[in-house]
Amino acid sequence: MAMTVAEVLKMAKDNEVKFVDFRFTDTRGKEQHVTVPVSQFDIDKFESGHAFDGSSIAGWKGIESSDMLLMPDPNTANIDPFMEETTLFMQCDVIEPSDGKGYDRDPRSIAKRAEAYLKSTGLGDTAYFGPEPEFFIFDGVRWKIDMSGCFVKIDSGEASWSTDAKIEGGNTGHRPTVKGGYFPVPPVDSFQDMRSEMCLILESLGIPVEVHHHEVAGAGQNEIGTKFSTLVERADWTQNLKYVVWNVAHTYGKTATFMPKPIVGDNGSGMHVHQSVWKDGKNLFAGDGYAGLSEFALYYIGGIIKHARALNAITNPGTNSYKRLVPGYEAPVKLAYSARNRSASIRIPYVANPKGRRVEARFPDPLANPYLCFAALLMAGLDGVQNKIHPGEAASKDLYHLPPEEDALIPTVCESLEQALGYLDKDREFLTRGGVFSDTMIDAYIELKKKEVERLNMTTHPVEFDMYYSL
Ligand code: GLN
Ligand code: MG
Ligand code: MG
Ligand code: MG
Repeated sequence: MAMTVAEVLKMAKDNEVKFVDFRFTDTRGKEQHVTVPVSQFDIDKFESGHAFDGSSIAGWKGIESSDMLLMPDPNTANIDPFMEETTLFMQCDVIEPSDGKGYDRDPRSIAKRAEAYLKSTGLGDTAYFGPEPEFFIFDGVRWKIDMSGCFVKIDSGEASWSTDAKIEGGNTGHRPTVKGGYFPVPPVDSFQDMRSEMCLILESLGIPVEVHHHEVAGAGQNEIGTKFSTLVERADWTQNLKYVVWNVAHTYGKTATFMPKPIVGDNGSGMHVHQSVWKDGKNLFAGDGYAGLSEFALYYIGGIIKHARALNAITNPGTNSYKRLVPGYEAPVKLAYSARNRSASIRIPYVANPKGRRVEARFPDPLANPYLCFAALLMAGLDGVQNKIHPGEAASKDLYHLPPEEDALIPTVCESLEQALGYLDKDREFLTRGGVFSDTMIDAYIELKKKEVERLNMTTHPVEFDMYYSL
């Protein structure tokens, strides 16, 4: 929502705000925050910013040059719906004090640079994004690490299947089974009230809700559909949505998770990303080609498919992400595009009105940092347009069940985070155009994420006990 600094100061006054919370998103996608009493909050925070120590943020600065500034964006001002003492919060850019510019590793600054880059190419002036993050709600998840520190037991247990907050430990009669969540009425769907509460809070924060429903996985998978918007705003909204989902679940004594594949053998959580590029109020994706798309849109798809394996490192940024990208669970494996086909990485939803014509990238998952994810998708799509990368023929078949000779012809998404990081390392030039992603940021990203790969590789897995203990 467009707001001036004066309006934010008035908002603080009118609501008798006691604290102001400055938020920013780190490389991994986690929102961080620091709070000041309202007595410390005036116009200067918008002019000089709020100083903080960036050295403890994973993948950011060394201790020797750690002073940084948070520059609040007045357009993001809202009253926090959960904090006991009335608190106004804003999303901030992270600013480098030495030159007053956005820090090269700050995801929100990267997203802003991607929007500016689009304008600078003259190809379009606005990119719209519509992400659909799915999530699970559990009663609780416990991690146990044994005395040697190497056996991690993830115990989502029976409790996670008890999806009804009101009947604890008893009535399990109405319980969705594997893939049975989509989407019988209550009491099989026991999350109706919780989702409704989440939606009302989202709307109070100015995020328009379009739909909410149980998702396919039986063990408490849900989705809240919110409206598309411009790149940075839509990424801000995604952070707000996660915050609301986590906190409402928390007030019900539950936990929510956006990890892509928490349950073995049932659907995982994706974050499909709908996209279109506009110029002078006209949707450049609408045309009379395949599925009502323009040549511009087809080239945009070509760019995403060409760079998909490098994109995976950003759009599917966890070791767990690749446990979702397997056949049979409505998540894509094949790098193909198709109208309506949900086994393809890119789907073109049927929309009669040319204004709504768009493409849906289906491989991203909700572990992705939304600022980096949308920026990277845009940069890949624009490379396709600039270099006229045609995506080839559309795929109409079920891509999970192709005859081997056809299967071999269609490339796949990455199989592991390690592989994706290797592709990102080699295929990064398209991201660095216009200084959107810096090389040092990409290097730091790869280093940060390699640590996750190494940690998992070095950890004895419960499945290994099953496979090897008695051999
Ligand atoms: N959960 C599926 C995925 O992992 C998507 C299901 C759907 O929205 N149709 O992408
Ligand atoms: Mg959806
Ligand atoms: Mg869905
Ligand atoms: Mg979708």
